[in-house]
Amino acid sequence: LVQLFRPLDMLGMVYRTIRQGLIDMAEMFRLLDTNVEVADKPGAPALVIRRPSVVFDNVMFGYEKDRTILHGLSFEVPAGRNYAVVGPSGAGKSTLARLLFRFYDPQDGRILIDGQDISEVTQSSLRAAIGIVPQDSVLFNDTIGYNIAYGREGATQEEVEAAARGAALMGLIDRLPQGFETEVGERGLKLSGGEKQRVAIARTLVKNPPILVLDEATSALDTRTEQDILATLHRVAEHRTSISIAHRLSTIADADRILVLHDGRLAESGSHAELLRRDGLYAEMWLRQAAEAEQLGEAAE
Ligand code: ATP
Repeated sequence: LVQLFRPLDMLGMVYRTIRQGLIDMAEMFRLLDTNVEVADKPGAPALVIRRPSVVFDNVMFGYEKDRTILHGLSFEVPAGRNYAVVGPSGAGKSTLARLLFRFYDPQDGRILIDGQDISEVTQSSLRAAIGIVPQDSVLFNDTIGYNIAYGREGATQEEVEAAARGAALMGLIDRLPQGFETEVGERGLKLSGGEKQRVAIARTLVKNPPILVLDEATSALDTRTEQDILATLHRVAEHRTSISIAHRLSTIADADRILVLHDGRLAESGSHAELLRRDGLYAEMWLRQAAEAEQLGEAAE
């Protein structure tokens, strides 16, 4: 009987591996904008950006019919401001970013960029306007230079170098014997987490989008690297409209405004100081994280 089970076990493993592969592939197709649910309207114009504000106007959305995730969410990020979105796990933070990128359309309400409904403009123009720095960037098994230039078709070597400087990558590149021509390995494995993230930041700089979405950009890094990367990101976001999706509140305390999501609704919003004074959900999350950080500190001593 044991002998019979072993091949079955193996089969299970192979099945799980394939299934995981499919899930990854589905994710990849979504990223490569082949979502069949969303299509350009015939004759849709390109998004034209003068002042890149972002508005969620009563947005209602669920992935499945019977389960609403965002319940009529409304907020405005004025052009050039740096906003943060926080909230408990499952509150809908990543969903909000996916809707802004139009991986899905809301069931009700509208999302506007510079006054234009994003479902009325071409997806290519929409996606050209938004840069995403994800928590774990996908690098191609190619050179550092290629991975940076990928940000925008036709990017020149000068632009790639300027972006590498902006992302504080030149120190690393100067130390590498092959410089920009250094191969990063499969999925960028020959680079450290922080270096990979800088390549992703440089790629975004080459793209030069008026709107930035920073998705937990610093979650996988140690504190020293994190501080450096954060400083770089803040510089990059300075003259753009940005939305940072964060778990750790310490990284977004200086945002112009913090939107606190809870169960797909805007529970509170304000500056860090205002929200602490309010003594609501944000203050509670802040105190809990401070206590956790203190515990970690004690454990490390
Ligand atoms: P976290 O902080 O844990 O990343 P979040 O606030 O970003 O959470 P979302 O990822 O936006 O939360 O998810 C909101 C809800 O939507 C969750 O309950 C999640 O289970 C559900 N959800 C997310 N993606 C999908 C999907 N592709 N299909 C169905 N449900 C989904």
